[in-house]
Amino acid sequence: MTATSDLQSRKAAAVSRGVATRNIYAVRAENAELWDAEGKRYIDFAVGIAVNNTGHRHPRVMKAVADQAMAFTHTCFHVAPYESYIALAERLNALTPGDFPKKTMLVSSGAEAVENAIKMARSFTGRSGVISFTGAFHGRTLMGMALTGKVMPYKKSFGAMPPEVVHAHFPNAFHGVSEAEAIRTLDGMLAANIDPDRIAAMIIEPVQGEGGFTIAPAGFLRHLRTVCDRHGIVLIADEVQAGMGRTGKWFGFEHSGVVPDLITMAKGLAGGFPLSAVTGRAEIVDAPHPGGLGGTYGGNPIAVAASHAVLDVIRDENLCQRSDEIGEVIRARLTQIARRQGMGCIGEVRGLGAMNAFELVKPGSNEPDAALTTAVVAEAERRGLILLSCGTRYNVIRLLPPLTIPMPQLHEALDIIEASLEAAVQKQAAA
Ligand code: PMP
Repeated sequence: MTATSDLQSRKAAAVSRGVATRNIYAVRAENAELWDAEGKRYIDFAVGIAVNNTGHRHPRVMKAVADQAMAFTHTCFHVAPYESYIALAERLNALTPGDFPKKTMLVSSGAEAVENAIKMARSFTGRSGVISFTGAFHGRTLMGMALTGKVMPYKKSFGAMPPEVVHAHFPNAFHGVSEAEAIRTLDGMLAANIDPDRIAAMIIEPVQGEGGFTIAPAGFLRHLRTVCDRHGIVLIADEVQAGMGRTGKWFGFEHSGVVPDLITMAKGLAGGFPLSAVTGRAEIVDAPHPGGLGGTYGGNPIAVAASHAVLDVIRDENLCQRSDEIGEVIRARLTQIARRQGMGCIGEVRGLGAMNAFELVKPGSNEPDAALTTAVVAEAERRGLILLSCGTRYNVIRLLPPLTIPMPQLHEALDIIEASLEAAVQKQAAA
């Protein structure tokens, strides 16, 4: 029995099967590399699902955490508040797009940030409806799940969803939903299905994460801004996956020039420590009454200390620029692979900054090839690269290297992707 198979059987016996896992049991990780229970080394293109943008265990983040641990680790901000929380709110208010007074609240997970953004929008507008989009992912809590635009595995068997949550089409030209069509159906929905005056908020990811790294066209976001302004609806940018430099800018929405009213952040915000934030227009963030928002762990001092260090590192190491450089290398290489004989399975290569993906299809069509996707991820894992799939059709492979990855490791990982694609395509042909 190997260390991994032992852990697998203990996990199966002791942990809810609903919590699905890969079989890479982590023992140690450093920047872009991770070692498992077998001592096997991987290049990590998942980084905890877009969390460690500054790499595993960045020395400045580790030092900030160690220093904070020596002072105090938890007091609950409601009971004994601390300066670092306020300072982080000040930084996020200044960093986020929008030339207007802003405020922030800190919580612990992406889903919790989404929940609180909706609570703020409802309190501010006095309305309850929310529009989200097909293919969206906004978390696994009740409202997060309701807003998520995919039934399996996120909503199946979990009962009634909160009312007045409606899904409009997210534009996806590759799968036949043009920007114009998405705008037409949204406008039609507001005319026929739901009274816009009942809508508190619209929530959208600038680049859908779990949904398949599909980029929201700037024109579509501009249209949402216009509709929200016309009807007094709060526009929420869910930047949980796309934010914190991942797309080559601090926030994905910045590519469009559209300024949202509220922004949700998590993942890359604190380099692996549980922290999330809602930042936005002061009057909306302030709408709930005192005591209406909060939580025991929200803005935990260790996570806040880590976040200050992460923001410093992104700024001092020019990681937004590095994100663009990494993205250019990735897209150039993937495009080159896609042009090769026998690589007709790569239907599309897309991305912004270091948030990139390729979609696998039956050659000559846009018909998803989920089996090939699973095979490529498994091949890469065997060869020492951790990849994640995504997409409502299970056929997209996303590449999420840390923004601090050394160039030789980036190329090593791209070599593994090419070899894994070749091997998986050959096996498929032989089957
Ligand atoms: N929103 C988006 C865009 C996400 O990608 C995620 C996580 N994948 C969430 C919300 C939920 O975050 P968490 O898992 O931290 O609750």
